[in-house]
Amino acid sequence: MAGTATPMMQQYFDLKAEAGDSLLFYRMGDFFELFFDDAKTAAGVLDIALTTRGEHDGNPVPMCGVPVHSAENYLARLIRAGCRVAIAEQVETPDEAKERAKREGTPSSKALVKRDIVRFVTAGTLTEEALLEPRRANMLAAVCEVRGACGVAACDISTGAMQLEECAPERLPGVLARIGASEVVAPEDWSEAPFDAVVRPRADFASDPGEARLKKVHGVATLDGFGQFSRAMLAAAGGLVAYLEHAGRGSLPLLLPPTARTSGEHMAMDEATRASLEILASQQGGRAGSLIAAIDRCVTGAGARQLAEDLSAPLADRGAIEARLALVDYMLRDPLLRGDLRTMLRSLPDIGRALGRLVAGRGSPRDLGQIRDGLSEARRIHDVLQGKPDRPALLDALLPDLAGHGELTDLLARALVPSPPTERQSGGYIAEGYDAALDDLREVSGNARRAIAAMEARYRAETDTPSLKIRHNGVLGYFIEVPSKHADKLMSPDSGFTHRQTMANAVRFNSLTLHEEANRIAEAGGRALAAEEAHFEELNERVAARRKAIARTAAALARLDVAAGQAERASDGEWCRPTISEEPLLAIEAGRHPVVEAALAANGERFVANDCSLSDQDRLWLVGGPNMGGKSTFLRQNALIVLMAQAGGFVPASSAQIGLVDQLFSRVGASDNLARGRSTFMVEMVETAAILSQAGQRSFVILDEVGRGTSTYDGLALAWAVAEAIHETNQSRCLFATHYHELARLAETCEALSLHHVRAKEWKGDLVLLHELAEGAADRSYGLAVAKLAGVPAPVVKRARSVLDKLEKGRAETGGLAAGLGDLPLFAASLAAEEEKCDTLREKLRETDVDALSPRDALDLLYELKREA
Ligand code: ADP
Repeated sequence: MAGTATPMMQQYFDLKAEAGDSLLFYRMGDFFELFFDDAKTAAGVLDIALTTRGEHDGNPVPMCGVPVHSAENYLARLIRAGCRVAIAEQVETPDEAKERAKREGTPSSKALVKRDIVRFVTAGTLTEEALLEPRRANMLAAVCEVRGACGVAACDISTGAMQLEECAPERLPGVLARIGASEVVAPEDWSEAPFDAVVRPRADFASDPGEARLKKVHGVATLDGFGQFSRAMLAAAGGLVAYLEHAGRGSLPLLLPPTARTSGEHMAMDEATRASLEILASQQGGRAGSLIAAIDRCVTGAGARQLAEDLSAPLADRGAIEARLALVDYMLRDPLLRGDLRTMLRSLPDIGRALGRLVAGRGSPRDLGQIRDGLSEARRIHDVLQGKPDRPALLDALLPDLAGHGELTDLLARALVPSPPTERQSGGYIAEGYDAALDDLREVSGNARRAIAAMEARYRAETDTPSLKIRHNGVLGYFIEVPSKHADKLMSPDSGFTHRQTMANAVRFNSLTLHEEANRIAEAGGRALAAEEAHFEELNERVAARRKAIARTAAALARLDVAAGQAERASDGEWCRPTISEEPLLAIEAGRHPVVEAALAANGERFVANDCSLSDQDRLWLVGGPNMGGKSTFLRQNALIVLMAQAGGFVPASSAQIGLVDQLFSRVGASDNLARGRSTFMVEMVETAAILSQAGQRSFVILDEVGRGTSTYDGLALAWAVAEAIHETNQSRCLFATHYHELARLAETCEALSLHHVRAKEWKGDLVLLHELAEGAADRSYGLAVAKLAGVPAPVVKRARSVLDKLEKGRAETGGLAAGLGDLPLFAASLAAEEEKCDTLREKLRETDVDALSPRDALDLLYELKREA
């Protein structure tokens, strides 16, 4: 293949080999072009024309291209579609290529401009404003396993925040779900790697080089100052930094010192729980209808990102939660301060992301301007807050982070024009008076421009041609133009003008003086640009040198925005400050579901608030009642209130006392998970199994309609056994919704279990759902009434009524579905009986002298054991 390739094709193939499975953007003048399969993929995703260019091996080469100036937009779409892109730029000019060809002795007509891959653009390594969503963090995660423990390194390279943690392999999916990475990197030969991970060489994921890499990045001799990191964490960090180096072709983006996340610091939630609680996205996939959409009142993107992180990783430490709550409370009690603060925050640029771009070497003068404006605003906020009495501890802790940048902001204020441009090429961003030499250069070109303007007036007079103009274009530079009919006056050899170009209606000339002035402009302009460029580099460095402090300021501002936003939300919705305690209780008065409440309010409907009160003596509530009666809503609202409280926010209730929850589990609705090839019922059982094996006394579990996905008998039996197990073994606080009336009999044997139902009544033959929780078992299921409500035709409902009557008659005669369940041994007793049997078998085995057994005796013993097992 290579043998028949033209030099350009050969260069393309070499670069493509380097790009691997990334699409290769091959720079050709003003376009990035894609060839072969890359072109087909990109044309499909971008919906642009697929054409061909030239031939290879006798076949036309598929090709498509995108203009360089609008490449970002196309990149964004490719990345969103899950592609990765390698950018191959021209790294020399055509002139340089010709020079080089001459030196190397190749004919200059064959000179090929050198190209290199300058960067890999991937979902997790973006910094461009246009490619990032302002209100969402963009996480990159690296995972690996070291001696049975999974290391996870996660960072948001748009702001540089980096976290390391370790978890048991079975917890990895939950951890990754919390992080919500847009790209995950894993070692190439790891069978447990997440299925959509980008694989990288195993050698990148080793703990010693990982530690060395981190030390080098942060210029420290030891990582002790940042925290304690395990081998697995360091190995994952190594993999992460190596991947960033690869993607940036050696240049690293902003990385802040890593922090270690310890297990137990946060309330654990697995992937299924996150999905079913619709924390950051609804089950449909968008932000609309999610918890965060119902809470978020942040006025900055950084605040919204911080809120998302808070909700994804609620705290499990009472002190830390109270600290956040006290700040929200403070903001709530002072609406004036809150209003002022939010006004100031609203105009705040995203300094975290501007910093990220500057440190990654992709910053612009505008980013410098944002740092200047953001830090000055932080200082103003500092001064306002400083003057306030009775500050909560968290606010006092944040204050110092808001100030201390005076020297840098002064420098930037002096150096930059008020609104610097996003491009550096044309200069004009360094302020007047900052650099005398630059001012002189600008003066020179300014004078020359004025001289040219004067020259135009003079030439008009001298040639008596009022329509004479001095103009400028990219090809000719400055020139004198007159309409064709006046051209003769300037044509004579002693006129001082030289002819340059004849157009249809005009003729263009040059003159020696014009040429000289134009040169002065060009030369001074070039030198001015170079001077500005040097200033940019210098300022960029000054900012980068203070990156840690600037990142702290950004984080403090985000925390303030979250607190003020939470206070705003709480005041709008009459939310309350939850009380946090260590006892395993949950006492919520007049709790509401923030998302359902908002949806109802939009239709002018009212949400019915409900209480929930779980304690050691009454920790499992069975919730019955008709479909559509509000069971799921009740379950979820309590889980959400716990989550919101532990995230450090107020909650939609009139009062809430929350005993700290270490793990939150939610199994709501049978969602399809066909993508992974499991049936709905299988998914339901896998998730239930996870709860039964992990939930403990400090956990909170909501289970909705367990067993719905299978036959009535199977379903009832499973629901029964699961409820019993949670009551007896896990002993978690639990809300358990079911439509099986038969489960009510559990109350006879499970003492910490109580019966509740959502109320409904029939009125003039119609069903009225009250959405109100009451004590006791549900009297009936109202299934037919719900069917009628849903518009099932009357004859069908009528027919169902007669079938039901028949069934119910049969049930009355036989004792019904749960007949005989009263004789069932207690769950604890059945566990104990199992245990006893094991003991007997174990004892018998221990007593047996295997060597003394004849083959016949051995067989008899086996039969005996089998009988007893
Ligand atoms: P179930 O789980 O019992 O089938 P859902 O919880 O799904 O019922 O609730 C069905 C619908 O009833 C919800 O979509 C909502 O519109 C309404 N609803 C639920 N709870 C309430 C409530 N407390 N107040 C008002 N409307 C409610």
